[in-house]
Amino acid sequence: TEAVERDVVVVGAGPAGLRAARELVAAGKTVAVLEARDRVGGRTWSRVIDGAFLEIGGQWISPDQTELLGLVEELGLETFQRYREGDSVYIAPDGTRHTYTGATFPAGEQTIAEMERLIGVLDELAADIGAAEPWAHPRARELDTVSFHHWLRQLSDDEAACNNIGIYVAGGMLTKPSHAFSTLQAVLMAASAGSFSNLVDEDFILDRRVVGGMQSVSEAMAEQLGDDVVFLNAPVRTIRWGGPEDTYAEHTPGTGVTVWSDPVTVRAQQVIVAVPPNLYSRISFEPPLPRLQHQMHQHQSLGIVIKVHAVYETPFWREKGLSGTGFGAAELSQEVYDNTNHGDSRGTLVGFVSDEKADEVFKLPAAERKRLILESLSHYLGEEALDPVVYYESDFGSEEWTRGAYAASYDLGGLHRYGADQRNPVGPIFWACSDLAAEGYQHVDGALRQGRLAAREVLGG
Ligand code: FAD
Repeated sequence: TEAVERDVVVVGAGPAGLRAARELVAAGKTVAVLEARDRVGGRTWSRVIDGAFLEIGGQWISPDQTELLGLVEELGLETFQRYREGDSVYIAPDGTRHTYTGATFPAGEQTIAEMERLIGVLDELAADIGAAEPWAHPRARELDTVSFHHWLRQLSDDEAACNNIGIYVAGGMLTKPSHAFSTLQAVLMAASAGSFSNLVDEDFILDRRVVGGMQSVSEAMAEQLGDDVVFLNAPVRTIRWGGPEDTYAEHTPGTGVTVWSDPVTVRAQQVIVAVPPNLYSRISFEPPLPRLQHQMHQHQSLGIVIKVHAVYETPFWREKGLSGTGFGAAELSQEVYDNTNHGDSRGTLVGFVSDEKADEVFKLPAAERKRLILESLSHYLGEEALDPVVYYESDFGSEEWTRGAYAASYDLGGLHRYGADQRNPVGPIFWACSDLAAEGYQHVDGALRQGRLAAREVLGG
């Protein structure tokens, strides 16, 4: 294997790792970025499948994501808005289909009033608690020890309202069932997007896309880093920090790090680990990480969601006066949107099959899963949906270097127990990824913020 010396080594060429490297190089540091995959971008990835350009991973940008919007502009990339003209579709728990305009779906007067009340409560909590350090709030423990599912039902006996509100965070964001995470975790998700109202407003949260795909943000950053900085096909196996006699309790400062990947070994002063927390344990640390890190990393896990892409000769729903947007808590695909590419004459729909529903359909043969998912899309937009020219399911759950989608969250009680320590450097080891972000938590914007923050920490404040 090749051996190189750099000031700083970055593990992972996703948005967080590349943003960190960009900051360090701008500050005059020499850097190596080691990436396990044969491409950059991590959970953002564009592919042409059967002739159709598809964004397999992260793609949407909301107006508050100024770190990402600023970088997109800096890199000379352009954005376009999600198509949203016409009626949206709501499928009620009894299976009846309703069209509507505006932000509130026609769930019945009492349920709508209840949903608005719950959104108000969550908006207040998000404003009061914030995204920066939710664990520090006086109510942190109380809200972190009750599941979002049960907390909603303590507040309201309207099951439909609880379910609809639950899904915005559960199936819609954390991609775990709402009994599997706490109310504090739900409040962090809302606060990271500015408010709960923002989170439930698809025209806000799913506002724009990058022309040419979100992965091009990472590709452009990698290109500007220059030659001999990013090493692909370079999974990091071992990070040695400190001398052979060191333990975490007795670490000799200034001894630097040696990082082994398959093709290259890097000697550096510091390392930024820019991979999601569920993958930290894939790396051997010598000496081992402190007990607290060993514990906390076992409480952060990724959810699971299938992002379904269906491409049609035309965006047939538009001709029917439909926006392509649809919601149905009882549907297999609980959401659907128009995901047509910029300047494309074909029409693309994107649907999402989340958490326990994903588990169920993954037990089925692929053809049966496809049939059920397309059937669900047809409930929203008509039987034309049954017959796409291209069909593809994004499955990051089976990707070795991700293992789920979209991002990591704590299990019940983990956020207030470990959150305050999750970004603590360990000697010369620093952490950065969207899964640890405040603003832009779980999103590309948060990954970039984390990358920049870790670089500043390495640079000494
Ligand atoms: P990652 O993107 O996961 O990058 C980490 C990198 O580290 C990867 O390239 C990985 O291969 C590499 N790696 C892991 N282990 C090692 C190792 N041992 N050695 C070397 N390299 C390693 N966000 C949005 O903003 N908008 C969206 O619409 C959106 N939709 C999404 C849809 C899907 C299906 C998915 C999966 C994600 C979505 N996200 C979205 C989330 C967004 O993509 C992530 O938050 C973001 O990519 C995280 O960036 P990151 O750099 O922190 O981590």
